[in-house]
Amino acid sequence: MDADVVVVGAGPVGLLLAAELALAGVRPIVLERLDEPSHQPKARGIGPLAAEALRRRGLGPDLDREHADGLRKLEREHGTTRAHFAWIHKIDADAADPGRRGALIGQPALEALLRRRLDELGVKVLFGHAVTGLKNESAQVTLTVESAAGSREVVTGYAVGCDGGRSTVRKLGEFDFPGTPPSMTVRFARGHVEGALPAPGRLPKGTLQYGDGMVATYDFEDTFDRSAPLDADDMRASVRRVTGVDVEISDFAGGLRFTDQARQAATYRRGRTLLAGDAAHVHSPSGGQGLNLGLMDAMNLGWKLAAAVRGDDRLLDSYTAERHPVGAAVLRNTRAQSALLAPGPQVDALRDVFSDLMDLPEVNRYLSRLISGVTIRYDLPYATTHPMAGLACPPLIVDGVPLEELTTSGRPLLLHPEAKAIGDDRVDAVVAHDLGDDRLAAVLLRPDGVIAGAGLDDDLRSAIKAWF
Ligand SMILES: Cc1cc2nc3c(=O)[nH]c(=O)nc-3n(C[C@H](O)[C@H](O)[C@H](O)COP(=O)(O)OP(=O)(O)OC[C@H]3O[C@@H](n4cnc5c(N)ncnc54)[C@H](O)[C@@H]3O)c2cc1C
Repeated sequence: MDADVVVVGAGPVGLLLAAELALAGVRPIVLERLDEPSHQPKARGIGPLAAEALRRRGLGPDLDREHADGLRKLEREHGTTRAHFAWIHKIDADAADPGRRGALIGQPALEALLRRRLDELGVKVLFGHAVTGLKNESAQVTLTVESAAGSREVVTGYAVGCDGGRSTVRKLGEFDFPGTPPSMTVRFARGHVEGALPAPGRLPKGTLQYGDGMVATYDFEDTFDRSAPLDADDMRASVRRVTGVDVEISDFAGGLRFTDQARQAATYRRGRTLLAGDAAHVHSPSGGQGLNLGLMDAMNLGWKLAAAVRGDDRLLDSYTAERHPVGAAVLRNTRAQSALLAPGPQVDALRDVFSDLMDLPEVNRYLSRLISGVTIRYDLPYATTHPMAGLACPPLIVDGVPLEELTTSGRPLLLHPEAKAIGDDRVDAVVAHDLGDDRLAAVLLRPDGVIAGAGLDDDLRSAIKAWF
Protein backbone atom coordinates (compact mmCIF):
# COMPACT_ATOMS: atom_id res chain seq x y z
CA MET A 1 0.00 0.00 0.00
CA ASP A 2 1.42 3.43 -0.94
CA ALA A 3 -1.09 5.29 1.23
CA ASP A 4 -4.06 4.66 3.52
CA VAL A 5 -6.04 7.33 1.68
CA VAL A 6 -5.46 9.23 -1.57
CA VAL A 7 -7.37 12.50 -1.89
CA VAL A 8 -7.74 13.40 -5.57
CA GLY A 9 -7.94 17.18 -6.07
CA ALA A 10 -6.52 20.04 -4.01
CA GLY A 11 -9.53 22.35 -4.24
CA PRO A 12 -10.98 23.55 -0.95
CA VAL A 13 -12.82 20.29 -0.29
CA GLY A 14 -9.81 18.01 -0.88
CA LEU A 15 -7.60 20.24 1.26
CA LEU A 16 -10.03 20.29 4.19
CA LEU A 17 -10.62 16.55 3.96
CA ALA A 18 -6.86 15.91 4.03
CA ALA A 19 -6.53 18.18 7.08
CA GLU A 20 -9.33 16.37 8.92
CA LEU A 21 -7.78 12.99 8.12
CA ALA A 22 -4.38 14.17 9.37
CA LEU A 23 -5.96 15.47 12.57
CA ALA A 24 -7.51 12.03 13.10
CA GLY A 25 -4.09 10.39 12.70
CA VAL A 26 -4.25 9.29 9.05
CA ARG A 27 -1.58 10.57 6.66
CA PRO A 28 -3.22 10.99 3.22
CA ILE A 29 -1.58 11.74 -0.11
CA VAL A 30 -3.16 14.68 -1.99
CA LEU A 31 -2.84 14.62 -5.79
CA GLU A 32 -3.57 17.74 -7.84
CA ARG A 33 -3.61 17.88 -11.63
CA LEU A 34 -2.66 21.58 -11.88
CA ASP A 35 1.00 22.53 -11.70
CA GLU A 36 0.23 25.27 -9.21
CA PRO A 37 -2.75 26.58 -7.24
CA SER A 38 -5.59 28.12 -9.25
CA HIS A 39 -6.34 31.82 -8.80
CA GLN A 40 -9.82 31.72 -10.35
CA PRO A 41 -12.05 33.94 -8.20
CA LYS A 42 -15.15 31.63 -7.94
CA ALA A 43 -16.70 31.60 -4.44
CA ARG A 44 -16.42 34.76 -2.41
CA GLY A 45 -17.57 33.41 0.90
CA ILE A 46 -18.71 30.52 3.06
CA GLY A 47 -21.90 30.12 5.08
CA PRO A 48 -22.16 29.79 8.85
CA LEU A 49 -21.81 25.99 9.00
CA ALA A 50 -18.46 25.91 7.17
CA ALA A 51 -17.23 29.05 8.92
CA GLU A 52 -18.06 27.54 12.32
CA ALA A 53 -16.32 24.31 11.33
CA LEU A 54 -13.13 26.19 10.41
CA ARG A 55 -13.36 28.30 13.57
CA ARG A 56 -13.51 25.09 15.61
CA ARG A 57 -10.11 24.25 14.10
CA GLY A 58 -8.56 27.56 15.09
CA LEU A 59 -8.93 29.42 11.80
CA GLY A 60 -11.28 32.10 13.20
CA PRO A 61 -8.77 34.99 13.26
CA ASP A 62 -7.84 34.36 9.59
CA LEU A 63 -11.51 34.31 8.58
CA ASP A 64 -12.22 37.53 10.50
CA ARG A 65 -9.40 39.34 8.72
CA GLU A 66 -10.65 38.32 5.28
CA HIS A 67 -14.29 38.94 6.19
CA ALA A 68 -13.82 42.66 6.92
CA ASP A 69 -12.30 43.12 3.48
CA GLY A 70 -14.99 40.97 1.80
CA LEU A 71 -17.79 43.05 3.36
CA ARG A 72 -16.35 46.25 1.92
CA LYS A 73 -16.09 44.67 -1.57
CA LEU A 74 -19.64 43.30 -1.43
CA GLU A 75 -21.12 46.63 -0.40
CA ARG A 76 -19.20 48.38 -3.19
CA GLU A 77 -20.35 45.93 -5.89
CA HIS A 78 -23.96 45.24 -4.88
CA GLY A 79 -24.79 48.31 -2.78
CA THR A 80 -25.84 45.94 0.03
CA THR A 81 -24.35 43.21 2.19
CA ARG A 82 -27.60 41.22 2.16
CA ALA A 83 -27.53 37.75 0.61
CA HIS A 84 -29.63 36.98 -2.45
CA PHE A 85 -32.10 34.45 -3.81
CA ALA A 86 -32.12 34.51 -7.64
CA TRP A 87 -30.25 37.84 -7.38
CA ILE A 88 -32.96 39.45 -5.27
CA HIS A 89 -30.69 40.85 -2.57
CA LYS A 90 -32.93 40.87 0.48
CA ILE A 91 -31.90 37.93 2.67
CA ASP A 92 -30.88 38.91 6.16
CA ALA A 93 -28.20 36.36 7.14
CA ASP A 94 -28.93 36.94 10.83
CA ALA A 95 -32.55 35.90 10.35
CA ALA A 96 -31.59 32.19 10.17
CA ASP A 97 -30.39 32.01 13.74
CA PRO A 98 -28.85 35.11 15.28
CA GLY A 99 -25.22 34.60 16.22
CA ARG A 100 -24.48 32.15 13.38
CA ARG A 101 -21.86 33.87 11.23
CA GLY A 102 -20.59 33.05 7.77
CA ALA A 103 -17.34 34.49 6.44
CA LEU A 104 -16.63 36.42 3.29
CA ILE A 105 -13.36 35.00 2.02
CA GLY A 106 -12.36 34.58 -1.61
CA GLN A 107 -11.81 30.99 -2.74
CA PRO A 108 -8.09 31.45 -3.58
CA ALA A 109 -7.48 32.96 -0.10
CA LEU A 110 -9.39 30.10 1.55
CA GLU A 111 -7.39 27.52 -0.38
CA ALA A 112 -4.11 29.24 0.62
CA LEU A 113 -5.26 29.12 4.26
CA LEU A 114 -6.03 25.41 4.02
CA ARG A 115 -2.72 24.66 2.29
CA ARG A 116 -0.89 26.41 5.15
CA ARG A 117 -2.84 24.29 7.59
CA LEU A 118 -1.90 21.11 5.73
CA ASP A 119 1.72 22.20 5.82
CA GLU A 120 1.51 22.57 9.61
CA LEU A 121 -0.04 19.10 9.81
CA GLY A 122 2.79 17.68 7.70
CA VAL A 123 0.69 16.68 4.66
CA LYS A 124 2.12 17.34 1.21
CA VAL A 125 0.09 18.32 -1.83
CA LEU A 126 1.59 16.86 -5.00
CA PHE A 127 0.88 19.39 -7.76
CA GLY A 128 1.25 18.28 -11.38
CA HIS A 129 -0.16 14.82 -10.58
CA ALA A 130 -3.31 13.87 -12.52
CA VAL A 131 -5.30 10.72 -11.81
CA THR A 132 -6.16 9.04 -15.12
CA GLY A 133 -7.08 5.50 -14.12
CA LEU A 134 -8.86 3.79 -11.22
CA LYS A 135 -9.48 0.18 -10.25
CA ASN A 136 -11.88 -0.19 -7.33
CA GLU A 137 -10.96 -3.60 -5.84
CA SER A 138 -12.27 -5.34 -2.74
CA ALA A 139 -9.20 -4.73 -0.58
CA GLN A 140 -7.65 -1.66 -2.24
CA VAL A 141 -7.92 0.97 -4.94
CA THR A 142 -5.27 1.21 -7.67
CA LEU A 143 -4.88 4.62 -9.28
CA THR A 144 -2.97 5.53 -12.41
CA VAL A 145 -1.20 8.84 -11.89
CA GLU A 146 0.41 10.94 -14.63
CA SER A 147 3.09 13.49 -13.78
CA ALA A 148 6.17 15.04 -15.40
CA ALA A 149 8.04 11.92 -14.24
CA GLY A 150 5.71 9.70 -16.31
CA SER A 151 2.91 7.33 -15.43
CA ARG A 152 2.81 5.19 -12.27
CA GLU A 153 0.38 3.17 -10.23
CA VAL A 154 -0.50 4.20 -6.68
CA VAL A 155 -2.14 1.63 -4.42
CA THR A 156 -4.31 2.93 -1.59
CA GLY A 157 -6.82 1.71 0.97
CA TYR A 158 -9.38 4.37 -0.01
CA ALA A 159 -9.57 6.97 -2.79
CA VAL A 160 -11.69 10.10 -2.44
CA GLY A 161 -12.61 12.08 -5.53
CA CYS A 162 -12.54 15.76 -4.56
CA ASP A 163 -11.78 16.54 -8.17
CA GLY A 164 -14.59 18.94 -8.97
CA GLY A 165 -17.69 18.96 -11.16
CA ARG A 166 -16.16 17.01 -14.04
CA SER A 167 -14.67 14.46 -11.65
CA THR A 168 -12.50 11.80 -13.23
CA VAL A 169 -12.87 9.64 -10.11
CA ARG A 170 -16.67 9.77 -10.42
CA LYS A 171 -16.52 8.66 -14.05
CA LEU A 172 -13.86 5.98 -13.60
CA GLY A 173 -15.58 4.78 -10.41
CA GLU A 174 -18.83 4.32 -12.40
CA PHE A 175 -21.00 6.43 -10.11
CA ASP A 176 -24.45 7.25 -11.51
CA PHE A 177 -24.89 11.02 -11.81
CA PRO A 178 -28.55 11.76 -12.51
CA GLY A 179 -30.07 15.22 -12.70
CA THR A 180 -31.25 18.00 -14.98
CA PRO A 181 -29.44 19.53 -17.99
CA PRO A 182 -28.59 23.25 -18.20
CA SER A 183 -31.35 25.79 -18.84
CA MET A 184 -28.85 28.66 -19.10
CA THR A 185 -25.17 29.47 -19.47
CA VAL A 186 -23.57 32.25 -17.46
CA ARG A 187 -20.52 34.01 -18.86
CA PHE A 188 -18.44 36.42 -16.85
CA ALA A 189 -15.51 38.11 -18.58
CA ARG A 190 -13.05 40.86 -17.84
CA GLY A 191 -12.94 43.46 -20.61
CA HIS A 192 -14.70 46.57 -21.90
CA VAL A 193 -17.85 46.35 -24.04
CA GLU A 194 -18.24 48.99 -26.71
CA GLY A 195 -21.55 49.45 -28.52
CA ALA A 196 -25.06 50.84 -28.14
CA LEU A 197 -26.12 48.48 -25.38
CA PRO A 198 -29.34 48.54 -23.38
CA ALA A 199 -29.05 49.36 -19.67
CA PRO A 200 -27.77 46.43 -17.58
CA GLY A 201 -30.48 44.16 -16.17
CA ARG A 202 -33.15 41.71 -17.26
CA LEU A 203 -33.88 41.67 -21.00
CA PRO A 204 -36.36 39.70 -23.13
CA LYS A 205 -33.80 36.96 -23.84
CA GLY A 206 -31.64 36.87 -20.72
CA THR A 207 -29.73 39.12 -18.36
CA LEU A 208 -26.84 41.45 -19.16
CA GLN A 209 -24.44 43.04 -16.71
CA TYR A 210 -21.49 45.26 -17.58
CA GLY A 211 -19.32 48.09 -16.28
CA ASP A 212 -16.17 48.41 -14.18
CA GLY A 213 -14.11 46.40 -16.69
CA MET A 214 -16.46 43.38 -16.74
CA VAL A 215 -19.31 41.96 -18.79
CA ALA A 216 -21.64 39.08 -17.91
CA THR A 217 -24.56 37.37 -19.61
CA TYR A 218 -27.22 34.92 -18.44
CA ASP A 219 -27.92 33.28 -21.74
CA PHE A 220 -30.99 31.02 -22.10
CA GLU A 221 -30.54 30.29 -25.80
CA ASP A 222 -27.25 28.52 -25.72
CA THR A 223 -25.64 25.15 -25.35
CA PHE A 224 -21.95 25.84 -25.52
CA ASP A 225 -19.13 23.64 -26.64
CA ARG A 226 -17.18 22.81 -23.48
CA SER A 227 -14.05 22.00 -25.46
CA ALA A 228 -13.92 25.57 -26.87
CA PRO A 229 -12.48 28.23 -24.57
CA LEU A 230 -14.35 31.34 -23.46
CA ASP A 231 -12.86 34.00 -25.73
CA ALA A 232 -13.90 37.45 -26.94
CA ASP A 233 -15.83 35.95 -29.89
CA ASP A 234 -17.82 33.59 -27.67
CA MET A 235 -18.62 36.48 -25.32
CA ARG A 236 -19.65 38.76 -28.20
CA ALA A 237 -21.94 36.08 -29.65
CA SER A 238 -23.63 35.67 -26.28
CA VAL A 239 -24.11 39.45 -25.85
CA ARG A 240 -25.71 39.44 -29.33
CA ARG A 241 -28.08 36.59 -28.42
CA VAL A 242 -29.13 38.28 -25.18
CA THR A 243 -29.39 41.89 -26.48
CA GLY A 244 -29.63 41.67 -30.26
CA VAL A 245 -26.75 44.18 -30.41
CA ASP A 246 -23.30 43.71 -31.98
CA VAL A 247 -20.54 44.90 -29.68
CA GLU A 248 -16.77 45.01 -29.58
CA ILE A 249 -14.96 43.74 -26.51
CA SER A 250 -11.62 45.40 -25.91
CA ASP A 251 -8.93 44.37 -23.43
CA PHE A 252 -10.52 40.91 -23.12
CA ALA A 253 -8.73 39.26 -20.19
CA GLY A 254 -10.41 35.91 -19.74
CA GLY A 255 -13.29 34.89 -17.53
CA LEU A 256 -15.58 32.09 -16.40
CA ARG A 257 -18.43 30.17 -17.96
CA PHE A 258 -20.81 27.91 -16.09
CA THR A 259 -24.31 26.49 -16.33
CA ASP A 260 -27.15 25.66 -13.98
CA GLN A 261 -26.96 21.95 -14.73
CA ALA A 262 -28.00 20.19 -11.49
CA ARG A 263 -26.76 16.64 -10.93
CA GLN A 264 -25.90 14.52 -7.93
CA ALA A 265 -24.13 11.20 -7.54
CA ALA A 266 -26.67 8.52 -6.60
CA THR A 267 -24.34 7.38 -3.81
CA TYR A 268 -21.19 9.01 -2.43
CA ARG A 269 -19.50 5.66 -1.81
CA ARG A 270 -18.82 2.66 -3.99
CA GLY A 271 -16.70 0.22 -2.02
CA ARG A 272 -13.39 1.93 -1.32
CA THR A 273 -13.99 4.90 -3.59
CA LEU A 274 -15.80 7.98 -2.30
CA LEU A 275 -16.82 11.40 -3.61
CA ALA A 276 -17.00 14.79 -1.90
CA GLY A 277 -17.69 18.39 -2.94
CA ASP A 278 -18.47 19.30 -6.54
CA ALA A 279 -17.43 15.78 -7.60
CA ALA A 280 -20.56 14.55 -5.79
CA HIS A 281 -22.94 17.36 -6.79
CA VAL A 282 -23.08 20.17 -9.34
CA HIS A 283 -25.59 23.00 -9.50
CA SER A 284 -25.69 26.68 -10.33
CA PRO A 285 -23.73 28.93 -7.97
CA SER A 286 -26.90 30.96 -7.26
CA GLY A 287 -27.02 31.77 -3.58
CA GLY A 288 -23.34 30.82 -3.10
CA GLN A 289 -23.88 27.39 -1.54
CA GLY A 290 -21.50 24.98 -3.30
CA LEU A 291 -18.39 25.60 -1.30
CA ASN A 292 -20.23 25.44 1.99
CA LEU A 293 -21.86 22.17 0.95
CA GLY A 294 -18.56 20.61 -0.13
CA LEU A 295 -16.65 21.69 2.97
CA MET A 296 -19.33 20.12 5.15
CA ASP A 297 -19.04 16.89 3.12
CA ALA A 298 -15.34 16.90 4.03
CA MET A 299 -16.06 17.52 7.73
CA ASN A 300 -18.62 14.69 7.75
CA LEU A 301 -16.34 12.23 5.98
CA GLY A 302 -12.94 12.92 7.59
CA TRP A 303 -13.38 11.27 10.97
CA LYS A 304 -15.52 8.42 9.61
CA LEU A 305 -12.92 7.55 6.98
CA ALA A 306 -10.17 7.73 9.60
CA ALA A 307 -12.11 5.14 11.65
CA ALA A 308 -12.38 2.95 8.53
CA VAL A 309 -8.60 3.17 8.01
CA ARG A 310 -8.18 2.04 11.60
CA GLY A 311 -10.24 -1.05 10.72
CA ASP A 312 -13.88 -0.15 11.48
CA ASP A 313 -15.84 0.93 8.40
CA ARG A 314 -19.30 0.72 10.01
CA LEU A 315 -19.72 4.51 9.94
CA LEU A 316 -18.83 4.96 6.25
CA ASP A 317 -22.31 4.43 4.83
CA SER A 318 -23.71 7.09 7.16
CA TYR A 319 -21.71 9.55 5.03
CA THR A 320 -24.03 9.12 2.02
CA ALA A 321 -27.07 8.75 4.29
CA GLU A 322 -26.38 12.09 5.99
CA ARG A 323 -24.95 14.16 3.15
CA HIS A 324 -27.00 13.07 0.10
CA PRO A 325 -30.28 14.67 1.33
CA VAL A 326 -28.43 17.90 2.12
CA GLY A 327 -27.02 18.05 -1.42
CA ALA A 328 -30.44 17.22 -2.90
CA ALA A 329 -31.98 20.15 -0.99
CA VAL A 330 -29.38 22.54 -2.45
CA LEU A 331 -30.03 21.26 -5.99
CA ARG A 332 -33.72 21.86 -5.43
CA ASN A 333 -33.37 25.47 -4.31
CA THR A 334 -30.89 26.33 -7.08
CA ARG A 335 -33.40 24.96 -9.63
CA ALA A 336 -36.01 27.25 -8.10
CA GLN A 337 -33.58 30.16 -8.50
CA SER A 338 -32.99 29.28 -12.16
CA ALA A 339 -36.75 29.41 -12.72
CA LEU A 340 -36.78 32.91 -11.22
CA LEU A 341 -33.91 33.98 -13.48
CA ALA A 342 -35.54 32.92 -16.76
CA PRO A 343 -36.45 35.80 -19.07
CA GLY A 344 -39.99 36.92 -19.95
CA PRO A 345 -42.79 39.10 -18.59
CA GLN A 346 -44.34 36.26 -16.57
CA VAL A 347 -41.12 35.71 -14.67
CA ASP A 348 -40.69 39.50 -14.27
CA ALA A 349 -44.08 39.49 -12.53
CA LEU A 350 -43.21 36.43 -10.46
CA ARG A 351 -39.99 38.11 -9.30
CA ASP A 352 -41.96 41.15 -8.17
CA VAL A 353 -44.26 38.96 -6.11
CA PHE A 354 -41.33 36.97 -4.73
CA SER A 355 -39.48 40.17 -3.85
CA ASP A 356 -42.50 41.45 -1.91
CA LEU A 357 -42.75 38.12 -0.08
CA MET A 358 -39.11 38.42 0.96
CA ASP A 359 -40.04 41.53 2.95
CA LEU A 360 -42.09 39.30 5.27
CA PRO A 361 -39.91 38.28 8.26
CA GLU A 362 -41.14 34.65 8.16
CA VAL A 363 -40.23 34.29 4.48
CA ASN A 364 -36.90 36.00 5.00
CA ARG A 365 -36.09 33.62 7.85
CA TYR A 366 -37.17 30.62 5.76
CA LEU A 367 -34.85 31.60 2.89
CA SER A 368 -32.00 32.46 5.21
CA ARG A 369 -32.26 28.99 6.78
CA LEU A 370 -32.61 27.34 3.38
CA ILE A 371 -29.43 28.94 2.02
CA SER A 372 -27.35 28.60 5.21
CA GLY A 373 -28.47 25.09 6.14
CA VAL A 374 -28.35 25.84 9.87
CA THR A 375 -31.52 23.88 10.55
CA ILE A 376 -30.30 20.69 8.82
CA ARG A 377 -30.76 17.79 11.19
CA TYR A 378 -29.33 14.32 10.68
CA ASP A 379 -31.31 11.25 11.70
CA LEU A 380 -29.34 9.65 14.51
CA PRO A 381 -29.20 5.84 14.72
CA TYR A 382 -30.50 5.77 18.33
CA ALA A 383 -33.31 7.37 20.31
CA THR A 384 -32.69 10.89 21.54
CA THR A 385 -34.93 13.07 23.63
CA HIS A 386 -33.35 16.41 22.86
CA PRO A 387 -34.68 18.66 20.06
CA MET A 388 -31.15 19.79 19.14
CA ALA A 389 -29.66 16.30 18.73
CA GLY A 390 -28.56 15.85 15.10
CA LEU A 391 -28.11 19.59 14.47
CA ALA A 392 -24.80 21.40 13.96
CA CYS A 393 -23.82 22.83 17.33
CA PRO A 394 -24.04 26.61 17.55
CA PRO A 395 -21.01 28.50 18.86
CA LEU A 396 -21.16 28.07 22.66
CA ILE A 397 -19.38 29.77 25.54
CA VAL A 398 -18.55 26.92 27.93
CA ASP A 399 -18.04 28.21 31.49
CA GLY A 400 -16.58 31.35 29.93
CA VAL A 401 -14.46 29.55 27.29
CA PRO A 402 -15.43 29.69 23.58
CA LEU A 403 -16.27 26.24 22.25
CA GLU A 404 -13.81 26.75 19.39
CA GLU A 405 -10.95 26.65 21.90
CA LEU A 406 -12.03 23.16 23.02
CA THR A 407 -12.34 21.58 19.58
CA THR A 408 -9.01 22.22 17.83
CA SER A 409 -7.88 18.60 18.34
CA GLY A 410 -10.80 17.29 16.28
CA ARG A 411 -11.62 14.72 18.99
CA PRO A 412 -15.15 13.87 20.10
CA LEU A 413 -16.07 16.15 22.99
CA LEU A 414 -18.37 15.64 25.96
CA LEU A 415 -19.43 18.74 27.89
CA HIS A 416 -21.40 17.72 30.97
CA PRO A 417 -21.52 18.51 34.70
CA GLU A 418 -20.55 14.86 35.32
CA ALA A 419 -18.43 14.40 32.21
CA LYS A 420 -15.76 12.32 33.97
CA ALA A 421 -18.30 9.75 35.18
CA ILE A 422 -19.97 9.36 31.75
CA GLY A 423 -17.09 9.75 29.31
CA ASP A 424 -14.33 7.28 28.64
CA ASP A 425 -11.09 7.37 26.70
CA ARG A 426 -12.96 7.63 23.39
CA VAL A 427 -14.00 11.23 24.08
CA ASP A 428 -12.51 14.38 25.58
CA ALA A 429 -14.62 14.69 28.72
CA VAL A 430 -14.82 18.26 30.02
CA VAL A 431 -16.75 19.07 33.18
CA ALA A 432 -19.05 21.94 32.19
CA HIS A 433 -21.80 23.65 34.15
CA ASP A 434 -22.86 26.47 31.85
CA LEU A 435 -22.85 26.12 28.06
CA GLY A 436 -24.10 29.65 27.52
CA ASP A 437 -27.25 28.42 25.74
CA ASP A 438 -30.48 27.88 27.69
CA ARG A 439 -31.44 25.00 25.43
CA LEU A 440 -28.36 22.94 26.31
CA ALA A 441 -27.38 21.62 29.76
CA ALA A 442 -24.91 19.10 28.31
CA VAL A 443 -23.71 18.14 24.88
CA LEU A 444 -21.85 15.33 23.12
CA LEU A 445 -20.17 16.63 19.98
CA ARG A 446 -18.94 14.62 17.02
CA PRO A 447 -15.68 15.79 15.41
CA ASP A 448 -17.73 17.46 12.64
CA GLY A 449 -19.55 19.58 15.22
CA VAL A 450 -22.83 17.68 15.06
CA ILE A 451 -24.68 17.27 18.35
CA ALA A 452 -24.71 13.50 18.90
CA GLY A 453 -26.61 13.81 22.15
CA ALA A 454 -27.66 16.63 24.40
CA GLY A 455 -29.23 17.46 27.70
CA LEU A 456 -29.11 15.59 30.97
CA ASP A 457 -31.79 13.07 29.95
CA ASP A 458 -30.14 11.70 26.81
CA ASP A 459 -28.36 8.37 27.06
CA LEU A 460 -24.95 9.77 26.18
CA ARG A 461 -23.18 6.47 26.84
CA SER A 462 -25.16 4.86 23.99
CA ALA A 463 -24.36 7.81 21.74
CA ILE A 464 -20.64 7.48 22.52
CA LYS A 465 -20.83 3.78 21.72
CA ALA A 466 -22.70 4.38 18.44
CA TRP A 467 -20.23 6.87 16.99
CA PHE A 468 -16.88 6.38 18.63
C1 LIG B 1 -18.42 31.74 -10.70
C2 LIG B 1 -18.60 30.87 -9.50
C3 LIG B 1 -19.00 31.46 -8.32
C4 LIG B 1 -19.18 30.69 -7.20
N1 LIG B 1 -19.57 31.30 -6.06
C5 LIG B 1 -19.74 30.57 -4.95
C6 LIG B 1 -20.06 31.20 -3.69
O1 LIG B 1 -20.19 32.42 -3.59
N2 LIG B 1 -20.20 30.41 -2.61
C7 LIG B 1 -20.04 29.06 -2.69
O2 LIG B 1 -20.21 28.39 -1.67
N3 LIG B 1 -19.71 28.43 -3.85
C8 LIG B 1 -19.55 29.15 -4.97
N4 LIG B 1 -19.17 28.53 -6.12
C9 LIG B 1 -18.96 27.08 -6.13
C10 LIG B 1 -17.57 26.71 -5.61
O3 LIG B 1 -16.59 27.41 -6.32
C11 LIG B 1 -17.36 25.19 -5.74
O4 LIG B 1 -18.45 24.56 -5.10
C12 LIG B 1 -16.03 24.74 -5.14
O5 LIG B 1 -14.94 25.12 -5.94
C13 LIG B 1 -16.00 23.22 -4.99
O6 LIG B 1 -14.77 22.83 -4.44
P1 LIG B 1 -14.18 21.39 -4.74
O7 LIG B 1 -12.92 21.31 -3.93
O8 LIG B 1 -15.22 20.36 -4.58
O9 LIG B 1 -13.83 21.39 -6.29
P2 LIG B 1 -12.82 22.31 -7.12
O10 LIG B 1 -12.66 23.64 -6.48
O11 LIG B 1 -13.29 22.25 -8.53
O12 LIG B 1 -11.43 21.56 -7.01
C14 LIG B 1 -11.18 20.35 -7.68
C15 LIG B 1 -9.68 20.18 -7.87
O13 LIG B 1 -9.43 18.89 -8.41
C16 LIG B 1 -8.43 18.99 -9.42
N5 LIG B 1 -8.57 17.86 -10.33
C17 LIG B 1 -9.54 17.66 -11.27
N6 LIG B 1 -9.35 16.49 -11.90
C18 LIG B 1 -8.24 15.93 -11.37
C19 LIG B 1 -7.54 14.71 -11.60
N7 LIG B 1 -7.97 13.83 -12.53
N8 LIG B 1 -6.44 14.45 -10.88
C20 LIG B 1 -6.01 15.33 -9.93
N9 LIG B 1 -6.63 16.49 -9.67
C21 LIG B 1 -7.74 16.78 -10.36
C22 LIG B 1 -8.73 20.33 -10.07
O14 LIG B 1 -7.61 20.83 -10.76
C23 LIG B 1 -9.11 21.18 -8.86
O15 LIG B 1 -7.99 21.81 -8.28
C24 LIG B 1 -18.97 29.29 -7.26
C25 LIG B 1 -18.55 28.69 -8.44
C26 LIG B 1 -18.37 29.47 -9.56
C27 LIG B 1 -17.94 28.83 -10.84
